[in-house]
Amino acid sequence: MTITSDNLQRRTTTEDFALLAQVSQMLTMLDRDRLLERVIELTSRALGADRASLVIHPQYHGDWTHLSIRHKTNQNLTERIEGDAAIHFAHRVVDRGLAGWVFKHKVGAVIYDTFADERWHIFPDSTSKARSALCVPLSEGENVVAVLTLLHAEPNHFDDNDLQLMSIVANQAAVAVRNAQLFNRTLQQQRQLEAVLHSIPDVFMVLDENGHILLVNDEAARLLDEEGNIDHLIGRSLASLAHLDSAFGQVAAITSEVAQIGKNWTFETRSEQQRKDFLASVSVWTSAIGSVGHAGYVVIMRDISTMRDLARFKDEMLKMASHDLRSPLALIVGYIDLIAMDTVEIPQVQEYLVIVHRATDKMRGLLDDMLRVEQIRNSPLELHQQVNYRDLVNTVLNDIRPLVDGKLQKLSTDLRLEHLEGIRVNPFLIREAMENLITNAVKYTPENGVIHITSYKQADRLHFSVRDTGVGIPKEALSRLFQSGFRVHQAGTEKIEGRGLGLNLVKTIIERHEGEVWVESEIGAGSTFGFWLPV
Ligand code: ADP
Repeated sequence: MTITSDNLQRRTTTEDFALLAQVSQMLTMLDRDRLLERVIELTSRALGADRASLVIHPQYHGDWTHLSIRHKTNQNLTERIEGDAAIHFAHRVVDRGLAGWVFKHKVGAVIYDTFADERWHIFPDSTSKARSALCVPLSEGENVVAVLTLLHAEPNHFDDNDLQLMSIVANQAAVAVRNAQLFNRTLQQQRQLEAVLHSIPDVFMVLDENGHILLVNDEAARLLDEEGNIDHLIGRSLASLAHLDSAFGQVAAITSEVAQIGKNWTFETRSEQQRKDFLASVSVWTSAIGSVGHAGYVVIMRDISTMRDLARFKDEMLKMASHDLRSPLALIVGYIDLIAMDTVEIPQVQEYLVIVHRATDKMRGLLDDMLRVEQIRNSPLELHQQVNYRDLVNTVLNDIRPLVDGKLQKLSTDLRLEHLEGIRVNPFLIREAMENLITNAVKYTPENGVIHITSYKQADRLHFSVRDTGVGIPKEALSRLFQSGFRVHQAGTEKIEGRGLGLNLVKTIIERHEGEVWVESEIGAGSTFGFWLPV
């Protein structure tokens, strides 16, 4: 007879209840293998079987496997088959035995007499002398994940009542296995995540919406706890720890506020305690657990001390060089003028002097640019004046038009500049930044190309961008464009003059206003340079 768990009508006894109670307790067991062994032991003992075994589907083990426990009556002795033998045995009973029948039909079965039931296959080398058997599936939804078989040496040992009871037990056990499986998977994922976290060389933190620490890696713990102990930090608010290291001041200020979805921040910050510079990136994470939304912050801080030191060194060198070169250069220019006056009648010399003059002009321009960047970067910010932004953009467009017309290019605009009368910026510097971007677009776009200018306000940011249909920029050069002195060497731009300082100046100006510059480009198709400013 076969039975499913849906048509149970068994007369229950006190022992049955005891067995069921023991099985329900297993729901909290989290070691799956131990749990399965326990199911076999309990059921085998409860139904007085000589031998009980479980065949487990490969979904749970990578291959079929078999757990078997043999009971010596009235003794607590158990025998186990393990390793390859277990796999071999499992394959055998699934291919031809009763277990295979139950896997296939997904219902339990009682065999009253193994000699008279064709579902029972006698393996010639089997040590089992079973004459009766009971076999039930452990199911997960539609799938049978394991099959439990109980054997006895006498015929008619198991009956339909036993089958009903075992079907209930098997259902419970399947739930317990599923729980253990889920728990182990979660544990494994958590361990993987932890291993990944700790191998990140950057400072890494995850905070909840109130700025309390959910996760930190070793690098972060080293800065925030004297002993570098991660456990000391979990659950604490970053704001209450930020005094320990100056690098966290701005991060703590951001993460103390309500997390606004989609927002992110990138800025440089310095740890005075460690004498290190970091590039910090803070972004908002969100997730929905059930119907409840959660949000918080992910903080990554990369140590850029070496880069910063080099940059400082370079700036210092440039500053010194530009200062020290100005006086001798002025002297050279002065003497060239004198020589020019004294040699008016010698055309050959006049010709040479024109060339020298051009070269010294170029040098002076270079020095002026370098000093200017230096000045903007370091001068106190008496920058901000109330400006009518729309007027400022229009002035730039008027000034730049002859240049565009001169190259027979088309200038198009998309300006949405209502209600921007009282913007606080330094108008001269912002004009300079805009003109620089547009001049570049004109310079690096062939005749008849199109220069498109966009500007609008969105949320608390003022956006400005210049798109061109010019030569474009190779991908590998994009990240270096805003460095001082960097120029792209590519076919088609050899004849275009420049000093590689314009974009560095733009970046300096925009960052002085606490904004950000960006670029997108496709070689041969054109480039878009832009910036945003906070308003
Ligand atoms: P430069 O004086 O060389 O133009 P910039 O700092 O303004 O100096 O620009 C740096 C480099 O970036 C340029 O040499 C050029 O290779 C590239 N570049 C800048 N703007 C554009 C553009 N609109 N299209 C293509 N390349 C550009």
